[in-house]
Amino acid sequence: MKPYILIVDDDPAVRLAMYEFLSAKSCHADTASSAENAIEYLKFNKVDIVITDIRMLGMDGLELTDIIKKKYDIDVIVMTAYSGEHSYAEAVSKGASDFIFKPVRFEELLLRLQRVAKERQNAKERNQMVKKLQKLAITDGLTKLYNSRYFYRQLDLEVDRQNRYGHNLSLLLIDIDHFKKYNDTYGHLEGDKVLIRLGQIIKSCLRRMDTAHRYGGEEFTVILPETSCQDAVVVAERIRESIEVESFSPVKGKKAMIAVSIGVTEYQPDEKIPTFVQRADQALYMSKNQGRNKTSFLLSEKPSKS
Ligand code: GH3
Ligand code: MG
Ligand code: MG
Repeated sequence: MKPYILIVDDDPAVRLAMYEFLSAKSCHADTASSAENAIEYLKFNKVDIVITDIRMLGMDGLELTDIIKKKYDIDVIVMTAYSGEHSYAEAVSKGASDFIFKPVRFEELLLRLQRVAKERQNAKERNQMVKKLQKLAITDGLTKLYNSRYFYRQLDLEVDRQNRYGHNLSLLLIDIDHFKKYNDTYGHLEGDKVLIRLGQIIKSCLRRMDTAHRYGGEEFTVILPETSCQDAVVVAERIRESIEVESFSPVKGKKAMIAVSIGVTEYQPDEKIPTFVQRADQALYMSKNQGRNKTSFLLSEKPSKS
């Protein structure tokens, strides 16, 4: 991909010669006659690399470099007459990627441009790879929901927020009923399809600020910030009912149904995270003990059922 280049020089002869050279080499080039004009130009145009003279009327090239590096993801190559008044170190300290002496030898400029463009491309690819890896590290491979690592990270954040601002914070723990039997009857691959679909259903029942995670094999968690236990039960019931009516066809011509049990709890100020999660687990087991396909909530030591 060819970079977009802006040539900044108050000498029209230099501007034109450089523009013609770069255009002849099929580069996307444009020109600005001052640092001030360059700043205006950058507001409205995509630029990858700026080549700027240092000594210009008005704002000089080093100040321009400084402004560009603070505001944009743009590489800057600075040009200066060989007078000793500006140093390579000075340009680099402002964030310049390269430095070239005037009168500019165009073939050398092209080589420097190519190197800067290549490094730019490499950095872009590295950033994309890092982002991809960061996403992978917090995503469950099967359901594409967040994984348990992200669950604990997010819970930490939300508990912190709760302790600071005193908002409500609720948690759902969802476990598929008799899932072992489903796997044993229809096979693991069909079981996997159920997990994927349940992930989609759970997500479809949530607001943007809520997060759903695959906690373990056939267990899911949902963090509901700014939600009371009472409201969390409503969300849990919406999820449970949506799953209850969903039908699967693990074998041609046969319909299979799935149900989940859900435990709901609300964070109590200053309690430890494991205590909070364990209470959701206890609520879940109340649902299991009371016949499954149910939502139960637990606020303190005293159990209650919705
Ligand atoms: P209960 O109603 O008490 O929750 O019964 P259950 O059978 O769902 O619970 P149990 O803990 O006995 O079994 C969980 C099953 O979940 C066992 C395993 O086959 C299944 N499971 C766990 N992870 C996966 C997975 O990634 N894919 C599939 N297909 N099945 C899984
Ligand atoms: Mg389980
Ligand atoms: Mg289960």
